[in-house]
Amino acid sequence: MENCIFCKIVKGEIPSTKLYESERVIVFLDINPIEKGHALIVPKLHWSNLAEVKLDTEKEIETYEELMYVMRVTAKAVISTGIADGANILQCNNACAGKTVDHLHFHVIPRYGKEAVAVPAFNSGAVKYEEGEVSVITKKLADAIKKIIQEEDLL
Ligand code: AMP
Ligand code: ZN
Repeated sequence: MENCIFCKIVKGEIPSTKLYESERVIVFLDINPIEKGHALIVPKLHWSNLAEVKLDTEKEIETYEELMYVMRVTAKAVISTGIADGANILQCNNACAGKTVDHLHFHVIPRYGKEAVAVPAFNSGAVKYEEGEVSVITKKLADAIKKIIQEEDLL
């Protein structure tokens, strides 16, 4: 993708502070970190978001599997070595979810100290379901998950 900033980083056209690089995945520090050590886990293939991930070719499957693997390993490196005390994983899909770079990536954000960080968007409980809404959204989501699993036929 020509104007994609992360594709440019993958190609080495703009610099990054790399923590890991393989044929398929690259990990580098976020230039605008939420915390010290804030890392981005990025596939070298250009997919805009999780809905755009293609799993048709061996390369696509291997890229996706390594992406998940390296995300776990990066989080483990953060929390099992004393580098930090905890970590959040964040991944944004589309502008309404806060996405600013249109190339799939996962944030691994180290957390330090004993105080619980406020992550209001995730745990505020600010939204309450109206009567009957739980069963409607549960059915919609469960049906969609089932359909995608059947269509992808990978399990
Ligand atoms: P998101 O909101 O998930 O799309 O986050 C995109 C992230 O990419 C932000 O946290 C930015 O600080 C980060 N970012 C943007 N450009 C660069 C860059 N050239 N090098 C490293 N991180 C970047
Ligand atoms: Zn890209």
